[in-house]
Amino acid sequence: MIIHIARIPVGGEYIEGVEPLDALDLVRPDVVLPKEYNYRLYVCAIEHEVVVTGKIWLDVEFACCRCACRFGKRLEINDFDSQAEFGDRTESIDLTVDIRDVILLAFPNYPNCKDDCKGLCPQCGKNLNVGKCRCKPPVLTGEWDDLDRLKIKIKRS
Ligand SMILES: [Zn+2]
Ligand SMILES: [Zn+2]
Repeated sequence: MIIHIARIPVGGEYIEGVEPLDALDLVRPDVVLPKEYNYRLYVCAIEHEVVVTGKIWLDVEFACCRCACRFGKRLEINDFDSQAEFGDRTESIDLTVDIRDVILLAFPNYPNCKDDCKGLCPQCGKNLNVGKCRCKPPVLTGEWDDLDRLKIKIKRS
């Protein structure tokens, strides 16, 4: 997003609209990105500094990291804040890198379709959000037995 300094009115102005996401060059093969992102920003120039603050949002389709279902989620950046100093000959400010960075930071590391997603059964793979499966909890063997015996010993002593 390019801000032309000469066009910023005294006292600043609100700008809003959509911009193509392609320009940001985001590489996220794990999600379905929208074509555009939305913005509502306040732009002002104070002496030799352009200050841009406001909100950026986009609707992304994720795969749940517990149950693998696809779900849509809005990423909202409500506190976008960018400051850039400019010289006498500077005509414009490019916000592309700043916007790219805040959008990348807004991505959740472990996206969940819902907070209480039950995930898939590790044994049969059934989606436990849909219903219970018939698998029994795995039987403890080996190291865990030793650990259990140790616990018993500790309790006794
Ligand atoms: Zn899920
Ligand atoms: Zn199961």
